[in-house]
Amino acid sequence: MVASAIENADAVIVGCGVAGGLLGGRLARDGFRVIVLEKRPQIGVPVRCGEAAGSRQEISQFIPIDESWIVAEINAARMYAPNLTFVEKRFPGVGVMINRDEFDQALAGQAENWGADVRSHHEVTGLRWRDGRVCGVKVKRHTDKTTYDVDARVTVGADGVESFVGRWANLTGHLRAKEIHTAAEYLLEGEGFPTDTIEIYVGRKISPGGYVWVFPKGDRFANVGVGVHPKMAKNGTARDYLHRFVEGHFPDAKKRRFIAGGVSGTKPLKTMVGDGVLLVGEAGRHNNPFSGGGIMNALEGAEEAHKVLKIGLERDTLDNEFLRRYDKAWHNRNGQVIHRFALLREFFFKLDDDDMNRVVSVLDKIVSARPGKITDYTEVFRAAFKTTPGVLWKARRMLW
Ligand SMILES: Cc1cc2nc3c(=O)[nH]c(=O)nc-3n(C[C@H](O)[C@H](O)[C@H](O)COP(=O)(O)OP(=O)(O)OC[C@H]3O[C@@H](n4cnc5c(N)ncnc54)[C@H](O)[C@@H]3O)c2cc1C
Repeated sequence: MVASAIENADAVIVGCGVAGGLLGGRLARDGFRVIVLEKRPQIGVPVRCGEAAGSRQEISQFIPIDESWIVAEINAARMYAPNLTFVEKRFPGVGVMINRDEFDQALAGQAENWGADVRSHHEVTGLRWRDGRVCGVKVKRHTDKTTYDVDARVTVGADGVESFVGRWANLTGHLRAKEIHTAAEYLLEGEGFPTDTIEIYVGRKISPGGYVWVFPKGDRFANVGVGVHPKMAKNGTARDYLHRFVEGHFPDAKKRRFIAGGVSGTKPLKTMVGDGVLLVGEAGRHNNPFSGGGIMNALEGAEEAHKVLKIGLERDTLDNEFLRRYDKAWHNRNGQVIHRFALLREFFFKLDDDDMNRVVSVLDKIVSARPGKITDYTEVFRAAFKTTPGVLWKARRMLW
């Protein structure tokens, strides 16, 4: 390997997923010199996602809607209890199913159009430090096995669930087993899939500590996945649970793609910033620890990071103290909700299948009695717990 010269940038962004792609683009649009480094040869590939995203209106705040990466509408959600009774709620237009690889590529394309230098197959292997603050990254270019350094006024870790930037900058540690869900998913082709409804199955036997999802992916296709809590899954890996579910529910479907991955399930970080460095998206633990969903959270996190970095770069003030504005903004926008969902996750681990049957039955009654839009899910869960003896006792930490 031959080390080459040092390059300079205002901001270097590690990872070109949804958070890195959006943030890199927005900073470049402001006129800053931005380098976005992505280790994978092709942005967004392979997909590691169930691909359920927010509404068209929500997404269009970040990137113009392109029908080519939208594959289905989400107008309803249905949750099955272990005894296969269910609760269904219709939410017309609540979300869309996307082709995540094309979506990430579209965000990267938007960033390039705005002037960001997006480089795939360039892996960040370490941070550069000067006087105790982060001042850039070390990079390996996989195409020709050369290395180079980037000196930057600010370094952003948008490197996803396994974030090394967070660890190198001493902001995060290894995710412990109790802090993650392991997940596996097939893209199935066949009959009998929902067309505009996302389906969730819960139960200790089928997905201990997590759930099974069946998400529509257009005509005759669905993403069918399982997330489990690794400590509670005594009957094999997430893939084994997935295999059993698919054999039981869609035995004739053809398996077109398999993916596996981890999803963080933690409370928000105390801080996502250090001197000259900041974490965004799943690197900053932005995803919902209960559902695992993180696409929209990562985009919103990138938006908050952008507001603070724009001012910081203009004033050349990128120390820890200044960047804490981003901690605060994120906490106010989503952090408190994430905290509640983290508690809900802990509570969920305590439920056995009988409890879940009862909760789904009560939720069904509540949802049937409230035809309007439900804006706060914890409110619904609280109502369910209060009307379900026994479950209430297990939920006491969450309610008070
Ligand atoms: C099985 C599964 C199903 C999911 N389903 C859904 C769903 O249906 N809906 C939803 O909203 N969320 C879902 N999620 C979560 C969602 O995918 C994440 O929250 C989201 O991708 C986070 O975006 P991000 O930009 O923070 O990170 P990522 O999208 O993970 O992007 C991080 C990028 O950084 C790159 N990178 C990492 N290290 C380096 C390095 N050293 N140098 C250069 N590049 C690096 C990676 O290659 C990657 O491209 C799912 C996750 C999994 C695992």
